[in-house]
Amino acid sequence: MKAFSVFGVTQSGKTTTIENIIRELKKRGYSVGSVKNIHYEDFLIDVEGSNTWRHKQAGSEMIVARGFKETDILIPQRLGIDRILRYFDHDYVVIEGVSDTVLPKILCGGSNFTETDARLNDLVFAISGCISNQISEYQGFPVINSLSEAGKLVDLIEEKVTDIMPFVEGLEQCGACGSNCRELVTKIIKGEATRSDCAFVKSRTTVTVGQKEIAVDSWLEAKLEAFLAVLFSKLDSYDPGEQIKITVRK
Ligand code: SF4
Repeated sequence: MKAFSVFGVTQSGKTTTIENIIRELKKRGYSVGSVKNIHYEDFLIDVEGSNTWRHKQAGSEMIVARGFKETDILIPQRLGIDRILRYFDHDYVVIEGVSDTVLPKILCGGSNFTETDARLNDLVFAISGCISNQISEYQGFPVINSLSEAGKLVDLIEEKVTDIMPFVEGLEQCGACGSNCRELVTKIIKGEATRSDCAFVKSRTTVTVGQKEIAVDSWLEAKLEAFLAVLFSKLDSYDPGEQIKITVRK
C-alpha cells in the first residue's frame, strides 16, 4: 500500500487537487482511500443524542453505523496516521492536510510565494494548487496543474511514492540503515535509495510492544529465529515453515 500527503497553504486548492488525483488514479485502475485531517478542535461527525452517540457515551471504543448506502466507523479518539493507515487495504491512500509525517508530499501553494517557501521541505516531490495557474516550475520543483495535467501529476506519484515505510509518523529511527527514516524516504524520492534499504523492511520478523511496532534489524532477527527454532523444535506440532505469532499480555 502506498500513501502520500497533499498539504499546504489554506485555500490553495488542496481538496480540488486531491479530487483530480483520485479520479486519475481510479481511471488507471487503482483502489484509493483517503484521509482528511480536520483542524477544528471541536469537530465531531456524530450528532449528540443519536444512537451511535449513546453507544459512545456508554463507553464503546469503536462504533460502526451500518446503513444501506454507507458504513461509518467511529473511534472516539484522535489516532495517529500510522494507526489510521492500518485500517486501509488500498493501492493508494491520499492524506489531506498532514505535514508532520514521513511520507512523500505534494505541496499546494497560492499566489503568496513566501507562504509556499515556508512549507517547502525535503519530502516534497511536486507543487500543485492555485500556484500552478501562474508558473510551471518553482525552486527546482515541478509545478503541475491537477485539472489540466492530472496525468502528469499521477505519473509523478507512480514514480515517487513507494509502499509505506515501517514508520510514517515522527522521526523514530533505529539507525540500522546508517541514516534515519526521514532521510531514507528523502533519498527514495530522489531515486538515491529504495524501500528495501530499510533494515526493517528486509526483516521477516515484526515485534510490537503495546501499539508500537519496533524495528528488528537482521542481527536481532537472526538471534530471535535461532532462539525460537531451538525452543519450538521440542514441540511435536512445530512446523519450521509456518508463521510464528506470539503475544505477551500484561
Ligand atoms: S532502517 Fe528503516 S526503520 Fe531504521 S532508521 Fe532506517 S528507515 Fe528507519
